[in-house]
Amino acid sequence: MSRPIELALRLSWYMIKNRYLMGKKRYPLVTMLEPLEACNLACEGCGRIREYESVIDRLMTVDQCLNAVNESDAPIVSIAGGEPTMHPNIDEIVAKIIEQKRFVYMCTNALLMERVMKKIPPSKYFCFVVHMDGMEEAHDISVYRKGVWKIATRAMKVAIENGYRVTSNTTIFNGVDEQDMLEMFKMLTDMGVEGCMVSPGYQFDSVPNQDLFISRKKARNVFTRILDPKHGIRFYNNPLYLDFLRGEKEYNCTAWSNPTYTVSGWREPCYLLGDRHTENFKELMSEDLWEKYGPGKDPRCANCLMHCGFESASIYDAIDNPVAAAKMVVGGAITKSGVGAG
Ligand code: SF4
Ligand code: SF4
Repeated sequence: MSRPIELALRLSWYMIKNRYLMGKKRYPLVTMLEPLEACNLACEGCGRIREYESVIDRLMTVDQCLNAVNESDAPIVSIAGGEPTMHPNIDEIVAKIIEQKRFVYMCTNALLMERVMKKIPPSKYFCFVVHMDGMEEAHDISVYRKGVWKIATRAMKVAIENGYRVTSNTTIFNGVDEQDMLEMFKMLTDMGVEGCMVSPGYQFDSVPNQDLFISRKKARNVFTRILDPKHGIRFYNNPLYLDFLRGEKEYNCTAWSNPTYTVSGWREPCYLLGDRHTENFKELMSEDLWEKYGPGKDPRCANCLMHCGFESASIYDAIDNPVAAAKMVVGGAITKSGVGAG
C-alpha cells in the first residue's frame, strides 16, 4: 500500500479551511498522542522514559485519547509514547480515530508489531512508523538490546506483505556512521517502505549522555551528504523540510502544529519542551506563549531542527506560497510532521 492521495487532499482542504475561511493564525496539523510513556526498551537517547519516570505506570483511557484528538481536530494523529503497542486498548484507540477518517501514524520499536497486526487490520488510514537507527549492530547498540533489529526488520517485511502501510523513522545522533545509515536507508527502500523519515535527535536535558546530540551546524553537514538524491533513497519528509535540513532554507519554528497530549496533559510549549502541562488546549495556540519560544528566544531551541517545529513550518509556507506548494507536490509529499519520542 502506498501513501494515499486522500491524505494530501484532506490536509490541503483542512489548511485552506482554517487559514482562509476561518482566518486562523495558528492551528494544528498533527495531534501527537502519547497514551502511555512506558516502553519495553530503554534507548540511550530517549527523553520520554526519563522525563515521565514518575508517571510511567499511567495509561490513558480510550475516551481521554479521543477527547484530545477531537479537541486538537488535526487530520493526522501520531501515536507515540513510550511504546504505544503496549497499551492494552491500542486497537480500540486506533479504530475509533480511523472511524473519524483521520490518518493514524503509530510510532513503534516493532517488538510487539506482529502481535498488534492481529488486532489492527491494514487500512489506508493507518501506518506503522518503525524506529530504525542503523544496520543491525548500530541499531541494537542504539536501543540497548541485541536482537531488536532482526525483530524490527522481520516485522516490517511481514507488515508490507500483508498490505500494511509502513514507514521508518531515524534519529541522527552525533558521530553517526553515515555509510551504515545509507546502507539501512537503501535496504528499507528496497524492502518497500513508503519512505524513510529522518530528523536530528533533540537535546533532551533528561538524557545523561549529552555528547549524543548533534549541533545544528554538524547536523546540516551530515544531512547534506545523506540526503543527496544520487543515493536513490525514498525519504518520507517533504522536500521543503529536506532543504531546511540541508541548510538551504530557513523557517521560523511553528511547533503549535504538533500539540502533544501525554498522560500528564498537553505539553507546553511543544513536543520537545515540557515546561508545564495543561488541560487547556487553547493556551497552546496563544500569542503570549509563542513570544517566548523558538531559536533566538529560548536557548534550548538553538540547535533544534525537529520536524515538529520546522517541517510543519514548510507546510504552512506551502499554503501561502504557490512556488513552495508546487515543489511539495512535485516532490510527492505532504506528509506527517511528527514522530516518535526518541
Ligand atoms: S525550536 Fe524546537 S524546541 Fe524550540 S519551541 Fe520550536 S520545536 Fe520546540
Ligand atoms: S526511543 Fe522509543 S523505543 Fe526507545 S525507549 Fe524511547 S520510546 Fe522506547
